[in-house]
Amino acid sequence: MGVLTRWLDRRRAAQREQIWSAAAADEAEQAARAQQLASIAGRLHRITAGTILYLRAGEWRRCSQPLPADAYLDVRVTSLGDQVMVDPARPAVWWVGVVGHPPECAWGGDEHPPCLRLEAHVAGIVRSTAHGRSLW
Ligand SMILES: [Zn+2]
Repeated sequence: MGVLTRWLDRRRAAQREQIWSAAAADEAEQAARAQQLASIAGRLHRITAGTILYLRAGEWRRCSQPLPADAYLDVRVTSLGDQVMVDPARPAVWWVGVVGHPPECAWGGDEHPPCLRLEAHVAGIVRSTAHGRSLW
């Protein structure tokens, strides 16, 4: 085997090694993220009915009410969805369905169908309920 062939072989092996270790790092990162997600998702049930979320622009989407995208949105929670949605394009951004009422809604409780349905940014929920740090 010539010197050049050996060198090329070694280089190929090194490249393979690099690709494998990058894939392993990706996998570890994904696993860590999944674990973090599971841990937060497991605590979302601590957001009980009556909790008020003070969501900033960018922390909510798909609202049943036609609000400007840059509006801040306060919601008194009736219930949270039990599925955390991960945006494939932004895997670090998680959303959860929220059903509730504006805090000023006179009806309250479940006297009428919830006035608000939306998806809230999990980090926004954590931020806006940060006074209850024990949640997280
Ligand atoms: Zn209402």
